[in-house]
Amino acid sequence: MKQDTIGSKVLAFLAGNLLDPTPFNYRFGYLYLNRTSKVIVEETDTYIDSGMRMTQEAVAEIMQKFAQASEDPAERIAARDEALDLFLDAAGELARETQRQAGDVGRDIAEESQVIREGAEGEDLTSAIGRIVDRAAQAERELANSSNRIDRLQRDLEEARNKALVDELTGIANRRAARTTIQDLETRKVRYCIAIIDVDHFKSINDTYGHTVGDRALKLVATALEESLAPWPVARWGGEEFLVIAEIPDPARMVEKVQAAKDDLAFRKLRLRETDEPMNPITFSAGVAGCSSTSEQTLRRADNALYKAKQSGRNTVLIAPETGRVGDA
Ligand code: GH3
Ligand code: MG
Ligand code: MG
Repeated sequence: MKQDTIGSKVLAFLAGNLLDPTPFNYRFGYLYLNRTSKVIVEETDTYIDSGMRMTQEAVAEIMQKFAQASEDPAERIAARDEALDLFLDAAGELARETQRQAGDVGRDIAEESQVIREGAEGEDLTSAIGRIVDRAAQAERELANSSNRIDRLQRDLEEARNKALVDELTGIANRRAARTTIQDLETRKVRYCIAIIDVDHFKSINDTYGHTVGDRALKLVATALEESLAPWPVARWGGEEFLVIAEIPDPARMVEKVQAAKDDLAFRKLRLRETDEPMNPITFSAGVAGCSSTSEQTLRRADNALYKAKQSGRNTVLIAPETGRVGDA
């Protein structure tokens, strides 16, 4: 079903950006994902590329620019109608149906009551009462049905929201979720540190044991990191890279904890499920950085420190120098 596809894509997009699924936002998401408007696409991409989360204010601003832009008005109206229709199909129809059902019940019961008030007796009275009871029971079923559907809509939305922020393989937060967390810390002006963790020689795990075992190893690393580094959130940043965000000002403390996580991971005895053959311990290298003036700089410094850790022979955690100068870390 074509409508379902674009509709759920729009909902997932809104959920991923923590935007409420209002008709206004839905229309924005629809226009963006459909690439209908140059203004919306360019403005939104600039936002997303800079690693910022779309806020409600940003959406309002972009839609304002869209309204003022001299793009073909006929096209704009068509796009709006289509987007609104889709939204109304999903949510509005449900609301209308519920209202209609309630109205029908009221009317039916009123009619039957009238029959009774007009002095129905014997058979007529019995059957009028019977019809009221049946109608009420039917209304109850219809209502339960509607509320099930509302529940399902809510669950779908919740699921879309989760999917947009969770890494499918490991079940931990994904890159987008990590970016959102960093963005929130910046907005709240909280000092934080980050660590970028990259598994050592991961390719050789794949090459030696196959991709499926590689996948299992990644899940294990994700779980081990979450356990060792809690309460700090751990996200899968890329293939075999993880990002940790700590709401503490002192990167030296983070280095200690990441080192402990590394020891803990190496200590876990890994065996191949099929043959029980022991695997080599998994090690990683990491770069840790306290925050710079922008999150991009912080990430770059952590990445530089990680690169140095790799160069120095791997299985190492290095701290980025406090300055943000290129080549410093
Ligand atoms: P280094 O110590 O320099 O980091 O070496 P490396 O082998 O870990 O690094 P490299 O970047 O050369 O290779 C990373 C590998 O991770 C290559 C890629 O196939 C593998 N990889 C990335 N994502 C996944 C995944 O989801 N599952 C599996 N099984 N492998 C993955
Ligand atoms: Mg890598
Ligand atoms: Mg690696």
